[in-house]
Amino acid sequence: MKAEKTGSVESLLTEKRIFSPSSEFAEKALLKSRQQYEEMWRRSIEKPDEFWAEMAEKHIDWFKKWDAVEEYSFKDDVFVRYFRGAKLNASYNCLDRHLNNWRRNKAALIWQGEPAEESRTYTYLQLHREVCKFASVLKSLGVKKGDRVTVYMPMIPELVITLLACARIGAIHSVVFGGFSSEALRDRIIDSQAETLVTANFGLRAGKTLNCKENADEALSNCPAVKNCIVVRRIDRDCNMMPGRDYWWHELMSAATPACEPEQMDAEDPLFILYTSGSTGKPKGVMHTTGGYMVYATTTFKYIFDYRDEDVFWCTADIGWVTGHSYIVYGPLSAGATSLMFEGVPNYPQPDRFWEVVEKYRVNIFYTAPTAIRAMMRDGDRWPLGRDLSSLRLLGTVGEPINPEAWMWYYKVVGKERCPVVDTWWQTETGGILISPLPGCIPTKPGSATVPFFGVNPKIIRQDGSEAAPNEGGYLVIDKPWPGIMRGVYGDPNRFKNTYFVQYPGYYFTGDGARRDEDGYFWLMGRVDDVINVSGHRLGTAEVESSLVAHPKVAEAAVVGFPHEIKGEGIYAYVTVKEGVEATEELKKELIAHVRKEIGPIASPDKIQFSSALPKTRSGKIIRRILRKIAAGEIGELGDTTTLADPAVVESLVAGRLEAV
Ligand code: ATP
Ligand code: MG
Repeated sequence: MKAEKTGSVESLLTEKRIFSPSSEFAEKALLKSRQQYEEMWRRSIEKPDEFWAEMAEKHIDWFKKWDAVEEYSFKDDVFVRYFRGAKLNASYNCLDRHLNNWRRNKAALIWQGEPAEESRTYTYLQLHREVCKFASVLKSLGVKKGDRVTVYMPMIPELVITLLACARIGAIHSVVFGGFSSEALRDRIIDSQAETLVTANFGLRAGKTLNCKENADEALSNCPAVKNCIVVRRIDRDCNMMPGRDYWWHELMSAATPACEPEQMDAEDPLFILYTSGSTGKPKGVMHTTGGYMVYATTTFKYIFDYRDEDVFWCTADIGWVTGHSYIVYGPLSAGATSLMFEGVPNYPQPDRFWEVVEKYRVNIFYTAPTAIRAMMRDGDRWPLGRDLSSLRLLGTVGEPINPEAWMWYYKVVGKERCPVVDTWWQTETGGILISPLPGCIPTKPGSATVPFFGVNPKIIRQDGSEAAPNEGGYLVIDKPWPGIMRGVYGDPNRFKNTYFVQYPGYYFTGDGARRDEDGYFWLMGRVDDVINVSGHRLGTAEVESSLVAHPKVAEAAVVGFPHEIKGEGIYAYVTVKEGVEATEELKKELIAHVRKEIGPIASPDKIQFSSALPKTRSGKIIRRILRKIAAGEIGELGDTTTLADPAVVESLVAGRLEAV
């Protein structure tokens, strides 16, 4: 079969809808025409030194300029370097430089706590003062340039203050998502060799308290290297405090001096370590450096979110993920934006919590994940319809392929067909967004992340390394670096090359499958590990799932392959139905017929299992590798499950499987 020989992935879905930005949006946008975009993109690829020097001058303040802009090798001795010899400080760019103009009294951070009555706003001047004080605290505890500081906190302003304070003195922060277990925390502390931990006594999540400090204590009992643990008193309740190791944040801060000069960092000095979310296996300690990352985070933020000074920007991600690093903290603050930070979850106390927050703060730009969109869609239209969302002018999504039906719901019910939707594809490793529409000039197609950002040259290649034809699915690779690309895996120099550059020397291997259509738009088709081979046809998971989600009774779907005597692999679909829908044998038949009609017999599921929930990472991505094991009956060997959000989901799926087969 053709597909097997070339190793391409077959594309099944045909999505023809296309939406142009309104003239009102386009007129005010930073980039107004596709031609303008094409010209800039071409220049960024042909003359990267000139292009990135210009961006670096325009968007970042430097203590000293560079001797060279872009230097790299994607073969043999793999390395990437940007802005050699230049000096800067990330916290200076996020704070100090905004203090000598009108922005000093602009809201930098608006924080909304989970309890409705708890909120705080920091102007740039106020945030600067807190950051300087905490930087002084860290110094007084002996933390210095290059030291690692692990941060294990709920979504509270002290988390942002900690990151910027680390950046100010040149310490490398390593944020561990506040919902992770003590084991996950311990592993990440040990891996990054941190000697300082910043945490909180408790956290709040969906009306429950999280025992952050208790988990931290458990982790620290196996981390003798940690000398200091600083504890924010998030709620007024005592916790265990070990004398000589543990300190209350507020006590240290009350004595701290607000005078703390920013350290002059080399462009290639590390800024942070962050572990990937673990969808495909053991998380990697991704390391980012200062100069390139700051240039890239700031530039992508300004162009892709088309930020204007009067806007309130809200990214709903947790700062425990890269999205929060780049688009709650570094990108927005460096751009002088107002960044909203939310402690709660979308559906507590009611399914309209997000919309209540949008209404309250008159949010203009809203950035969330497909998992949240699908959950809200499942809860019904009345929730967004019951709130005033007229302030919104741009919507964004990130984290997984967005099914066209979820995209349409977001566009219509939330955005009222007024707001462009930017579907942004990127990874922890990439530092910032690589593929996304520029909202004023790139018409959108539901389910497509559209076109590459400046400096990014993605290719679709077949298994044999040759380039795929238009609309032929293959491996998504990038053929040169961009300033935000990771510089290494912390503590493991060979893992960088071995994870990303050995598959196709000369290319950065993303691990995702995609196709590029006749307009040059990219469509992400799922992870390459998840490709299903049905009778020699190689299918991506995303398109089959999207077809299921397009059925009016389906809320969410995950598709995997399982061993099949005749076809090699069969299609096993896990389906969650919408609120109020009955999961019957009838419906299974209806769904099989639906997929058959929508995309063809080759994609019709062999087995459908209804489930009330799917296994997800703590960042909300479906973990297909676990579903694959369950479908194959290999339930004793599920692999690394430490990043799983809710282990009970797996148990119920295992039980459900026995019935389904
Ligand atoms: P691990 O690498 O540990 O398995 P992970 O890949 O889930 O975890 P992240 O870096 O948080 O960790 O996620 C990046 C991945 O998320 C991408 O490789 C892609 O598979 C998926 N992704 C992110 N944004 C999009 C998007 N807009 N469309 C499609 N897929 C996306
Ligand atoms: Mg990954």
